Amino acid sequence: MTTQNELKSLSKRRQSPIDVRDDEAHPIEMVPLTIVGHWLNDGEAIMSNNGEYAILNLKGDRVPSLLRGGPLSGEYEFLNAHFHWGVDDSCGSEHLLNGAPFSMEAHIVHWNRKYHSFQECLKQEDGICVLAFFFLAQDDDDCSKCAMLDKITEHLKDVVEYKSETIIPANSLCWIREATRSDYYYFYQGSLTAGGLEECVTWIIFPVVLPITHAQIAEFRHLKSEKGREVMENRRNVQRIYDRKIYKALIQQLT
Ligand SMILES: [Zn+2]
Repeated sequence: MTTQNELKSLSKRRQSPIDVRDDEAHPIEMVPLTIVGHWLNDGEAIMSNNGEYAILNLKGDRVPSLLRGGPLSGEYEFLNAHFHWGVDDSCGSEHLLNGAPFSMEAHIVHWNRKYHSFQECLKQEDGICVLAFFFLAQDDDDCSKCAMLDKITEHLKDVVEYKSETIIPANSLCWIREATRSDYYYFYQGSLTAGGLEECVTWIIFPVVLPITHAQIAEFRHLKSEKGREVMENRRNVQRIYDRKIYKALIQQLT
């Protein structure tokens, strides 16, 4: 079904997600992107089911998790982490990489501190920055890297019901460390992929593909929507790029 917001977005030219093609990306040297505090083991992490996604918030006694550097000016503060999946493990990511989908995509959403509130950020073209990470399902149930996601997937059974929430380990985003071990990433100007589809997002997409087991992804599909149905998929299709540039940020080596 085409929603009202989808219709409105037809006149817009910086919608997300997109197919990120390496051979069309413009290489650019960048200062390092700094990610601070996302995987600290202080305070607490709360996972909830909003009827569309599993969403993770960081709360309690911990320093704010911040993002700065790279293509960003100023500081962006962590808002939430959430996941997109598909009806089966052959698709599920929102962005494609060189035409290929992945089984799942995680979004770590940040808001630009200079605008003081998330609502204000939605109106600004540099209001939001989302880090995107790809996951690919594999058969090996014993894979040690997949275990990094257990801190999240083992608790999904506690948020099956709409609007339920549970406390999970404070450092549940520890896998970001692994996923950012790359000497390049992509970035481009786009939009939110749900809600009002506001064109306020700097997308930063890491090419490191993290492994996940089929069983771990299956847990996400048990989440129930507001109407009590299992959320089998929650991804938006790729959008036209128009005249936008996709950049490939090459991380400057410190000498
Ligand atoms: Zn998202």
